[in-house]
Amino acid sequence: MNSGLTVFLFHEVTDNPSEFLKQSGMWVSKEVFEKQVNWIVKNFEVLPIGQILEKSALPRNAAVITFDDAWAGMFTAIEEVLLPRGIPACLFLNFGTIISRIDVCAGEKYLRERQPQIHLEDQDVTSAVQHLPEQLFKDFLDYQGSIVEMNYVEKISKSPKITFGNHLYNHYDCKKIPDDKFIEEFRSNKISLELFPNNSDNRFFAFPFGTPGINFTDRHLDLLKNEEVAISFSGTSRRLSKFNPPEVLIPRIHFSPSDSLEGNCWWACFKNQLLRRF
Ligand SMILES: [Zn+2]
Repeated sequence: MNSGLTVFLFHEVTDNPSEFLKQSGMWVSKEVFEKQVNWIVKNFEVLPIGQILEKSALPRNAAVITFDDAWAGMFTAIEEVLLPRGIPACLFLNFGTIISRIDVCAGEKYLRERQPQIHLEDQDVTSAVQHLPEQLFKDFLDYQGSIVEMNYVEKISKSPKITFGNHLYNHYDCKKIPDDKFIEEFRSNKISLELFPNNSDNRFFAFPFGTPGINFTDRHLDLLKNEEVAISFSGTSRRLSKFNPPEVLIPRIHFSPSDSLEGNCWWACFKNQLLRRF
């Protein structure tokens, strides 16, 4: 493998994915997660994310493991699978989601598909979901999946192997909100992240949804530079075949729920380069 940087992206780890997670494919089972992690540590040197900003050269098989959003099962998986083996990880969290228990993307999909009589033009998704009758709110949580509770975030934050990065306060598509709202969302999440001074590193940002051009543009990268972000991560699934700091946008590999064989994992890393997709 040539020198480069391979960043892996996980979301929820669960044996009972919600309807929303099944639709989006943003989950893996516990068994598959363990296999994927075993494959990563066998083939890569997993670094704490802060090390990629250090001046010394990275090992030739450098990798970083990241998780996005605030799903409950990903915290359990980190605690049970990564931490006992001392494997570092960076979690890009949305604190607005943790506090409200509402992922705005799941909320919007739920309301559009199951409560079409509610008009979203007049109110934001979070407050529309919060105003649902109790039974429907439970139905929404079933549809969405479990969001981590703050005391679990505090528990995980005791580990020096864990870094928290910024993923906006709520899971908005950056291109669908005005620039001032984007900055406000970044800063609100930063304030929450600073409650965990030993773990938080606001130099790292991951774009919600994460497709360049579709969910964010170069303008967002410029705005983030003003907020002292050093590196942003996309969801473009490929390796960085050459890591040349100061690289400001780094792609990440995400596996599918069925990638459990070594061949699947290699293919996930290289398919887009081999198919010349990006
Ligand atoms: Zn996300």
